[in-house]
Amino acid sequence: MDEVTKDENYAISFPEDYETVCWGCGLRLLLPSYAPVFKCGWCGAITNQNPRKHDNRCFRWRKLRDRCFVSFLLLFMLFVICGGVWAVYPVVFSISYFCGVSHSIITVILAISTVSSFCLAAFFCAGTPPSILWGSYPVVGKAGLENYTFCLYCSKPKSPRAHHCRSCGMCILDMDHHCPFIGNCVGAANHRYFIAFLLSAVFSTTYVSIMTAYAGFHVWPPMSYRSVGHLTVFSRDMALRMVKEIIVAFLDSAVLLSPRGIVLVYLFVASLSVGIGLTVLLWQQLFYIYEGKTYLSHLSSRGDVEIGEKGCQNLYRFFGCPYSATRYLRCFFNIKKINKKFQGTRIRSD
Ligand SMILES: [Zn+2]
Ligand SMILES: [Zn+2]
Ligand SMILES: [Zn+2]
Repeated sequence: MDEVTKDENYAISFPEDYETVCWGCGLRLLLPSYAPVFKCGWCGAITNQNPRKHDNRCFRWRKLRDRCFVSFLLLFMLFVICGGVWAVYPVVFSISYFCGVSHSIITVILAISTVSSFCLAAFFCAGTPPSILWGSYPVVGKAGLENYTFCLYCSKPKSPRAHHCRSCGMCILDMDHHCPFIGNCVGAANHRYFIAFLLSAVFSTTYVSIMTAYAGFHVWPPMSYRSVGHLTVFSRDMALRMVKEIIVAFLDSAVLLSPRGIVLVYLFVASLSVGIGLTVLLWQQLFYIYEGKTYLSHLSSRGDVEIGEKGCQNLYRFFGCPYSATRYLRCFFNIKKINKKFQGTRIRSD
């Protein structure tokens, strides 16, 4: 064959040749000895002769878990919206009519944006890799399947930027991670909806925390102190007594809390803790986008010096360009890395 390189000629001269077939272009390949993983010199497809196929027994369980999480999260959002409106509105409307109307408008905007971005991230397909011809020469041209591997679950070629998700049961382009809370993968097609959901949820939980703290302060029963008023000389013992006194008064008054007050306390604690968790997740996501990688590519590149282009242009590209334009631009370093890994096992013959 005309494309045989020096390395390939050298490899073919080994005495113990091992013959096998490339899954990508169907050509017969001659390896110097049995190689479990090799790359075809013509189409560039990577063949793994000892594939480990994990059993798929937990598939139904994972689906059930995802559905439970999605339903729970939707119910929780509904509870925060309805409970928040019920618990806060008498307080805000008692301040002024303008405050009440502004609060209602902000609540409607935050509720619609959070629930709609959640539904888009959860029910929108995370991004299927483009279909590609494979299996026969010369339908598959030179380097036509560069760094493609074969997905045993989907029984079709898997591009270097795609990963198979066992929870979704399909290959996902630019897979970031499988998120059980949205019951879906975060990939090329729904990554922006996921970020929009996180942003919207962080704003919403911050707003709920502030409003519930404010309303809670207004509806809290008055606290009665026994001896704090008589404390005039400051000492360590006095300070401790004061703190103890305040805690006791706080707990005493908490017993008299109305159902509205209890809902406010619960909403404050829940929205604050959920908000902190989501802020950390959002920060991590924006950091990976800034670095030009996904969570999965970050895991696979641990300890590797080579990092793809990073900078604010990645963030602009992520939020600015349409999906079709961005899908081929990211994760170049992954392809480079795989190229390095398989150099030297590039053997081809007819
Ligand atoms: Zn091939
Ligand atoms: Zn697959
Ligand atoms: Zn998935």
